[in-house]
Amino acid sequence: MHELAVCQALMDQVAGVAAREAARRVTAVTLQIGDLSGVEPQLLQDAWPIASAGSLAAGAQLHIETVPLRVRCLACGSETDALPNRLVCGECGSFRTTLVSGEELLLKSVELERADTGDAA
Ligand SMILES: [Zn+2]
Repeated sequence: MHELAVCQALMDQVAGVAAREAARRVTAVTLQIGDLSGVEPQLLQDAWPIASAGSLAAGAQLHIETVPLRVRCLACGSETDALPNRLVCGECGSFRTTLVSGEELLLKSVELERADTGDAA
């Protein structure tokens, strides 16, 4: 299951942040996922409790923000929305485009409780 592997890689990043911040517990994690990332947000949500079980992030909320797919046109210079199976310019219809966003699979933020203060960060 691809999403579980993604979650586990994500957990490594979260654990790194938690260790650096001397966190007692991770309460929420926010991800940014693009349409072209190849990851299904719902499957990621399903895999998250499995990947986070037994860690500092067990029980943490997983928030997923989807990033719209955008292309920049090499013919007319416009930046427009596009569809995953149709990376064409929305202005002139050219196929000569480069991806601006949509491939993201990013850990955007981690909310945690620190052992010393108990404040969320
Ligand atoms: Zn164009």
